[in-house]
Amino acid sequence: MNRRRHPYRFARPLLTSLTVATLAACSPPSPQPGAESAEPPAPAAGNGDAIDLIVQGDYIVTMDDRLSVIRNGAVAVDEGIIVALGSADQITAEYSATETLPAGNRVVLPGLINGHSHAAMTLLRGVADDLELMTWLNDYIFPAEVEFVDAEFVRIGTELACWEMIRGGTTTFVDMYYHPDVIAEVVEACGLRAYVSATVIGQRSPDAEGADDSVSKGLAFIGRWQGRNSRITPIFGPHANYTLNEEQLRATRDAANEAGVPISIHLSESPYEVEYSTQNYGTTSIEFFDSIGFFDGLTIGAHVVWPTEEEIPVLAEKKVGVIHNPTSNMKIASGISPVTAMLQAGVRVGLGTDGAASNNDLDMWEEMRLAAFLQKVDRMDPTVLPASTVLRMATRGGAEAIGLGDKVGALAVGMRADLIQVSFDDVHFVPTYDVMSHLVYVADEQDVASTVVDGKVLMRNGEVLTVDTERVRRDAKALAARIQGALAERNR
Ligand SMILES: [Zn+2]
Repeated sequence: MNRRRHPYRFARPLLTSLTVATLAACSPPSPQPGAESAEPPAPAAGNGDAIDLIVQGDYIVTMDDRLSVIRNGAVAVDEGIIVALGSADQITAEYSATETLPAGNRVVLPGLINGHSHAAMTLLRGVADDLELMTWLNDYIFPAEVEFVDAEFVRIGTELACWEMIRGGTTTFVDMYYHPDVIAEVVEACGLRAYVSATVIGQRSPDAEGADDSVSKGLAFIGRWQGRNSRITPIFGPHANYTLNEEQLRATRDAANEAGVPISIHLSESPYEVEYSTQNYGTTSIEFFDSIGFFDGLTIGAHVVWPTEEEIPVLAEKKVGVIHNPTSNMKIASGISPVTAMLQAGVRVGLGTDGAASNNDLDMWEEMRLAAFLQKVDRMDPTVLPASTVLRMATRGGAEAIGLGDKVGALAVGMRADLIQVSFDDVHFVPTYDVMSHLVYVADEQDVASTVVDGKVLMRNGEVLTVDTERVRRDAKALAARIQGALAERNR
């Protein structure tokens, strides 16, 4: 059996091939934990270097090791990479950019990382709420999916999700749904960064006949997309331990390692899943996965609400990236994930929204806020999960959890230029004592002004540039009307 550990690696950014400058006054970029040490960037190369983009902010929240914040700062971007950051005066003296996003009461920070989504389920947002899980699934979600989920549904739903994510400052997402080629095409067009899963499930699905078929179709999908676009990483998304048997789970892990890609899976989400594992395998869920070598290769585990005390160190040791989805866990009443204990044990924890049918939006700001509040009330301790920790989970921590910690999630020279500007114009930011506190406890997706991925501006002053929003709104409404009619007919 293939037992390579973490076969999936990114090349280091090619710092030496760029004209890179650092400015003495800015906070130095920090090395990424777990990454090989990068060569130090070359010294300043001269005045007025022509670059692609300068992004300015009243505050630059870097999310480096010291959580440095630069007042009246700017980030210089060229060829998709951060080439310098420092005071706005220094950067504008040093560089002349094709485009500048000015400060004007704006805060610059790394783009948010949504570690678990089913993007196209935006089309099922609000179709049924406040129901017991199995009623919700069996009477609403599954029938709607069987009847309506085809390539066109996935295209429109993913476009709608990408529109919302760009608007809300999410720059990377990890998706699990059907028709992955379509998802990847939408991501390619809209400019976001994503891991796109080929979903593997042991039953007939909208794009496969069963587990074997979905693994072989998944390998073909990965073959088509690996190396095609540096923003898009094709991966495997086996659904869960109760929808796949041991042999199918092993086969998926082997296929992922053979292709050199990570896996994203629902992990220890519900008491049902743990009970299922205990009854069928004699061990709890995470212990079972570990026993079959499933974590020997980068694994992104969504939810992880019910790990046992013994399982938490396993997650740390095997470097499983845990994605906490507080809204979905609360809405479906899955439970409260022991996030504080996992962080203390050294587990890599990021945040996600899950699908919009159980959220019901893709607002990562809300996830941050709820993650903090949920831990505080669960532990009856307001000191746990402070704002800076939660903001880290939504940015750099999320990047580390999914294996992108040396590429995105922090603002530092050599990192890919995935960053956002949040406007502090709204009354709810007045007054501002602590910028990090406001980002976590006040900001919403509507406050994001600009979104940049790989150095490309996807939203400027609140206007999404890479999605035809009026067409997507029209298409989504038309499809929703058909779904509503069919469900009304069925439930009559
Ligand atoms: Zn999910």
